[in-house]
Amino acid sequence: MQLILMGAPGAGKGTQAAKLVKKFSIPQISTGDMFRAAVKEGTELGKQAKACMDAGKLVPDEVTIGIVRERLVKDDCKNGFILDGFPRTVEQADALTKILDDLGKKLSRVLNIHVPSEDLIERAVGRRICKNCGATYHVKFHPPKSDTCDECGGQLYQRADDNVETMTNRLSVYEASTRPLIDYYKRAGIYTEIDGRQPIDKVTEDLVNVLTSVKD
Ligand code: ADP
Ligand code: AMP
Repeated sequence: MQLILMGAPGAGKGTQAAKLVKKFSIPQISTGDMFRAAVKEGTELGKQAKACMDAGKLVPDEVTIGIVRERLVKDDCKNGFILDGFPRTVEQADALTKILDDLGKKLSRVLNIHVPSEDLIERAVGRRICKNCGATYHVKFHPPKSDTCDECGGQLYQRADDNVETMTNRLSVYEASTRPLIDYYKRAGIYTEIDGRQPIDKVTEDLVNVLTSVKD
């Protein structure tokens, strides 16, 4: 299954991708995670990405498309994958179609986790992530049992871009550049919307219900 998990920043893509990875045994490909790893390693890509991420802007299309192209040819993607946070522009979506064509594959489904914009800043600002395993928590909606990760005991941190100012920019970038992809994939006939305001496990249930009827 070749899937895209769409949704505004903070909608719950990463949270749900982690659950779908376990259920369907296909990898999560998060461009945001890839950029954060590059920032941590201090590579050229990381330096370029950091400036964009700190400002709440998108990393240029040609850079982002390049890292996704390299990732999708890896062996672990041969039975499918879950794209999280990519594509974010029409140019990226067109490039994805081309990459998949070259690999003899096509998209199975685009799942959009819909959360009203007024909820998204609170979601992002309260987000905490495990430094060790990447598990995602929320101080109010999904709090860890203690001040470390429930899964592995790792230290929790707050992303540098999860503040009100950067998040406001990220939401306007989403409106201008990413929202048009909803119509793009509706026209392709592979779009399904899920109500992301429900509890985390109910959102997972809805996603799994859609995916059980998806063939490859
Ligand atoms: P995204 O990957 O779309 O940016 P995340 O999965 O990281 O979003 O979720 C953003 C924040 O919202 C996290 O702190 C997460 O714990 C919380 N969250 C995710 N899903 C829900 C939900 N259904 N209800 C309430 N909070 C949620
Ligand atoms: P995310 O982890 O998905 O919230 O992404 C964090 C940041 O990484 C975004 O605000 C962008 O700066 C950058 N980013 C992630 N994915 C993309 C993408 N597909 N295109 C451009 N920039 C991206």
